[in-house]
Amino acid sequence: MHKLLPYAGLLALAASQVMANEPATAKPVVPAKTEQLAPSIHPLTPADHSTSVSNKSRVLTSSMASSAQKVIRSKASKKPPSSAHSHQDELGPVQGLVKAMLAANQRYMSTKPAAYFARFASKQTPRATVVTCSDSRVQSNAFHADAVNDLFMVRNIGNQLATSEGSVEYGVRHLHTPLLLFIGHAVCGAVQAASGDYSALEAPIRKELLTINIPKGISVNDGVLLNVNNQVDAALLKFGGEVDAGQLAVIGAFYDFRNDYKLGRGKLIITNINGETDPARLAALTKAGNFFMVGNGMTGAAASH
Ligand SMILES: [Zn+2]
Repeated sequence: MHKLLPYAGLLALAASQVMANEPATAKPVVPAKTEQLAPSIHPLTPADHSTSVSNKSRVLTSSMASSAQKVIRSKASKKPPSSAHSHQDELGPVQGLVKAMLAANQRYMSTKPAAYFARFASKQTPRATVVTCSDSRVQSNAFHADAVNDLFMVRNIGNQLATSEGSVEYGVRHLHTPLLLFIGHAVCGAVQAASGDYSALEAPIRKELLTINIPKGISVNDGVLLNVNNQVDAALLKFGGEVDAGQLAVIGAFYDFRNDYKLGRGKLIITNINGETDPARLAALTKAGNFFMVGNGMTGAAASH
């Protein structure tokens, strides 16, 4: 397994990404507006940080780990636990949501000319296969102005290759996206569950947690970083031919919507490029726009593609 990216290293890496000249071709990966984010020194030690995140996450996430107890209580019956909470309680919110969604769709339709849809009416031509967690706080508008026809999105709990291997393979080998991006996120409930005892959860959920290979008890954000590295490693094994041929770049990133790493709320931090996790190397590769491996390793010069 990958060595954990040290906290200080991640901070330095992200800080250097803030300062790096961003190549125009890296639009899906590097946010456009980063100049206002000055590199800062985090006042907490890594140990303090881990504790802090761990404590907060127990409160803030609706994690599967915390729902394990409810499952135990209701295990005798296969029906959902009965309570005063009925579908009547949900009716108002659902009606409101459906109404809002239909209205939003109407506005969307009215603002897009026919030519907008004509571009992709018969064929999709995405540039990236993107694997994110299903977490509702992670959405592509955080890192792409309009992902339509550009990002082939694969979503599952814990942003994994193993549990959506066919979808990822389709993006890489049939749509030929030159970029495969794995995005983990702050306080991921799936990672948190995988780091603890999830034996009481439903079998299908257990199955999807089983492939998150992290140590029990690891702090949640460290677990997220490690899981992203593991996903990149698995992808490099599976798509080694494409990567070695310089046809595919595999990148890992951390989406920090809580500003846990003090680089700005919502920052997308690149943490892995084709298996490279050294902060200084990552910064250099990002600055040079060199995201492809050619031959036995990544070249210093920008690859020509
Ligand atoms: Zn998650």
